[in-house]
Amino acid sequence: VGMNVQDLAKLLHRDASEIIKKLFLLGIVTNQNQSLDEDTIEILAADYGIDAKQKEEEDLADIDRFFDDETVNEDALEPRAPVVTIMGHVDHGKTTLLDYLRKTNVTEGEAGGITQHIGAYQARLDGRLITFLDTPGHAAFSEMRARGANVTDITVLVVAADDGVQPQTIEAINHAKAAGTPVIVAVNKIDKEGANPDQVMNQLMAYDLVPEEYGGSTIFVKISAKQGQNIDQLLEMILLEADVLELKADPTQPGRGSVIEARLDKGRGPVSTVLVQQGTLHIGDPVVVGNTYGRIRTMQNEKGEDLKEAKPATPVQITGLNAVPSAGDRFVVMADEKSARAAGEEREKRAREEVRNAGSVVTLDTLFNTMAEKAMKTVPVIVKADVQGSVEALAGALKKIEVEGVKVDVVHAAVGAINESDVSLAGASGAIIIGFNVRPTPFAKNQAQTDKIDMRFYNVIYDAIDDVTDAMKGQLEPVY
Ligand code: GDP
Repeated sequence: VGMNVQDLAKLLHRDASEIIKKLFLLGIVTNQNQSLDEDTIEILAADYGIDAKQKEEEDLADIDRFFDDETVNEDALEPRAPVVTIMGHVDHGKTTLLDYLRKTNVTEGEAGGITQHIGAYQARLDGRLITFLDTPGHAAFSEMRARGANVTDITVLVVAADDGVQPQTIEAINHAKAAGTPVIVAVNKIDKEGANPDQVMNQLMAYDLVPEEYGGSTIFVKISAKQGQNIDQLLEMILLEADVLELKADPTQPGRGSVIEARLDKGRGPVSTVLVQQGTLHIGDPVVVGNTYGRIRTMQNEKGEDLKEAKPATPVQITGLNAVPSAGDRFVVMADEKSARAAGEEREKRAREEVRNAGSVVTLDTLFNTMAEKAMKTVPVIVKADVQGSVEALAGALKKIEVEGVKVDVVHAAVGAINESDVSLAGASGAIIIGFNVRPTPFAKNQAQTDKIDMRFYNVIYDAIDDVTDAMKGQLEPVY
C-alpha cells in the first residue's frame, strides 16, 4: 500500500500523534513520515473498526490525498519565488508597505503599472521575484492555515519605530511561530521624529527575535514604507532568507496550490485568486478546489494580463469554477473533467453532511423552544448588509439584545450578498442569517434550503431587532 503514518492518519481522520501512540502501545516505534507495512496498517485499521482496503476506495474522492502526494521529480526541481506575508500591529504600516511594493519594482525603478487587488502580487528585485500575500490580518493568515493551506514561507513583521511592540505585534509573532515561518523584522517609520528603532530591537528580544548584531539570527531592516527608504534592502533580505530556505518546486507536475481569496462576480461568476504551489496550472485544466470543481477558463496576473500557464509561487486570478471556494481551500489539477467533477461533488456532499451533523437547525420560529431545549447561553447570528455602516449598526444593536440572560452572539458580520461561506458558517455554528438590503447568491440560497438554514431579510433595522427579540421571548408572529 505504501503509506506513512501521516497518510494513514488522514485516511482514518485521526491525528498522526494518536496513531503514533497506538503503534507505540503495540510495541512499534515510528514517526510521522515512516512508512508502514501492510500488516501494521491492517492491524491499526481493524483497531478502528475499518477494513483498510475498503476505506481507501471510499476515500478516492478525497482531494487531500492528491494534494498531499508530495512525489516530485527531484531532477525537475527548480528554485521558486518566496511567498511572504506581512503582519504587525494596526497602523504600523502594513498597507503602506504593501502599496509601495505593489507600485514599484524597486531597483529596476520601473513603475509597476496599474495593479488590481487580487489578494497577492509579485515584486521584483534584480530580476528575482517575491510573492506577497496582500491580506494583512492575522485571522486571515490562521484561517487559511486552519483549512490546511500552508502558503507562507516568510513573515515580515512590521513594527513602527515610534510605537514599539504592541499587542498585535505579539499576536503576529505567535501566528508566525505557530506556522513555523521565519520572521524578518521591518522596523518602520524611521523617518518620523521620535522614531526609536533600538528600542524596538530591545523589546523584541523578549520574543526570541534577536538581531544579528546582538548575537542572534533575526534579520532587522529599518525602513520607511512611506518614503520607500531601504525597501530594496528589505527585499534583498527576503531573498537571502529564501536562499537559506532553498525553496524549490517541480513545475512539470499538474498544478496544485491554495485559494488566497474568492468572490462571486456578477458577470464572470466565481472569481478566485489562487497561488500555485507545485506544478504548473494551465488554461483548460480540470480542477478540484475545496468543495467545488471546474475547468480553468481564464487566468490573469495582478496586472490584468492574460496568462496561459502559471508556475510555482505565481498568484493568479482564475475563473471557471462552479462555486466560490473559501480562502485556504486547496486546489489540485485532475486528469480529466469527469474525475474533477466526481471528486468535487463527493467533497461537497461530505461537507454538507458534516454541516448537517454539526448540530440541529436553529430558526427564528422555533428559537424560544430551542433555547430552552439546548439551554442556549447565546443565540448565534450572522449579519450581512449592503454597506459597512449598516453592518455595524445592525450588529451593534443585536449584541445589545438580552432576554433572560441570553444574548445574541454575532459570529460574523460583513458587507455583501449572503454567500455559501455564510451558509456553511451558519450550519457549523447553528446561526441564523440576517440580511439587510442584501439577497443570497443563487448557490447560497440552494445550500441554505438543503441545510435548512434560516435566512431573514430586512430593510428596516428595527424590524430585524424586534423579530430577534420577539423570537427569543417566544412571541414572534408566524409569517405565512
Ligand atoms: P496598517 O494598519 O499597518 O496597514 O498601517 P497603514 O499602512 O495604514 O499606516 C498607518 C499610518 O501610518 C498611515 O497614516 C501611514 O501613512 C503611516 N505610515 C506608514 N508607514 C509610514 C512611514 O514609514 N513613515 C511615516 N511617517 N508614516 C507612515
